Amino acid sequence: MKLWKSPFFDNALNQFLSTAEVMNLDPNIVERLRQPARALVVSVPVRMDDGGVRSYCGFRVQHSDTLGPCKGGIRYHPDVTLGDAAALAMLMTWKCALMGLPLGGAKGGLQVDPTMLSRAELQRATRRFTIELINMIGPDRDIPAPDLGVNEQVMAWIMDTYSKQVGATRPGVVTGKPITVGGSLYRHEATGRGVVFAVQKAAAVTGMSLGEGTTFALQGFGNVGAIAAKAMAELGCRCIAVTTSRGGVLDRNGFKLESLYACYKEHGCLTPEVTGGDSITNKDLLALDCDVLILAAQANQITGENASQVQCRILAEGANGPVTREADPVLVDKGIFVIPDILANAGGVTVSYFEWVQDLQHFFWDMDEIELRLKKMLSRTFDETLALARKYAVSLRTAALMKGIGRVAQAMLLRGLYP
Ligand code: GLU
Repeated sequence: MKLWKSPFFDNALNQFLSTAEVMNLDPNIVERLRQPARALVVSVPVRMDDGGVRSYCGFRVQHSDTLGPCKGGIRYHPDVTLGDAAALAMLMTWKCALMGLPLGGAKGGLQVDPTMLSRAELQRATRRFTIELINMIGPDRDIPAPDLGVNEQVMAWIMDTYSKQVGATRPGVVTGKPITVGGSLYRHEATGRGVVFAVQKAAAVTGMSLGEGTTFALQGFGNVGAIAAKAMAELGCRCIAVTTSRGGVLDRNGFKLESLYACYKEHGCLTPEVTGGDSITNKDLLALDCDVLILAAQANQITGENASQVQCRILAEGANGPVTREADPVLVDKGIFVIPDILANAGGVTVSYFEWVQDLQHFFWDMDEIELRLKKMLSRTFDETLALARKYAVSLRTAALMKGIGRVAQAMLLRGLYP
């Protein structure tokens, strides 16, 4: 088990084990699911623009393919570890199962800072990484998607490299592609809009009205955070603070989102000199008095140490694993409505599933159809999870995990153990 050692994996594993206990899960099932099914560790040599060669460590971890081909993003970050990828792969298994998708869970990582590479270097790194993973991925094996530090262009390069190897265009090998090469409408917006849709559901349950007078704070201004902010603003809510990895800005009167987007686009960070307001650290953002707090950055942000300072009424986990196991009960005791990651950010993988289906059928749906189907699935899953939480008097996170794990366990028992 040492192989997967990382704080993130420990958190995911303990979460699984304690849920398994609540569910009274068959110990043989626990034994299999407590670690990934397989993992590949590769070294990715890249010719740099200056002629030299640099090697980056990469991996792909497949946690389970019981329900279907593995599914999950690829993350480019200098600090991503094998343990992190294993934790994220496990979460993907539960997330896909919770949403009722015919997919298993996987995650990949490349230890590189994409902002330090030129476009040509990023392309060479991506193509070589794809070749190293070639026997593991494929439309009916394992379908990567974007995660932290990765965008649509990277997905297009993976698709192209894979397709060149097999000798035919295979858009279904990855999701989150640009529309022109087989991407799906709404995939880009799906995670952020899904987060806000979950916030709307939570607000209805808690009797909070979302609109003028509702304040929200946001950690992370990447794809998920920026789109979630837009969707919240469309509901009339007031954005009072946003931080990125380099800190951020606070204005209790609310920001005009256009100024934040413009500042981030131009400077890669948010500074009060450009956006107005005051500066705020990530730590202080988490403790802000606000109605809705959206976490859309890294894991392990709210821990046993700072959980008691959190003051929001609804907390939505747009990122994977932003709240640790120690923090969870503290937030629940404070009466904060926590929408767990595998529910809050499941819009992303759900539209990835739609993209994959469209690619396999070479038949593309319009925006209305995708949005309608997504909302139906998210709404149904939210309601069923809430009902389960109430039935067993457990948190929404435990209920979501119970539902996801339960579905995988059921399929494992039906398929049986080979040989
Ligand atoms: N990386 C995203 C997640 O954590 C999306 C995965 C996918 O679309 O396959 O859910």
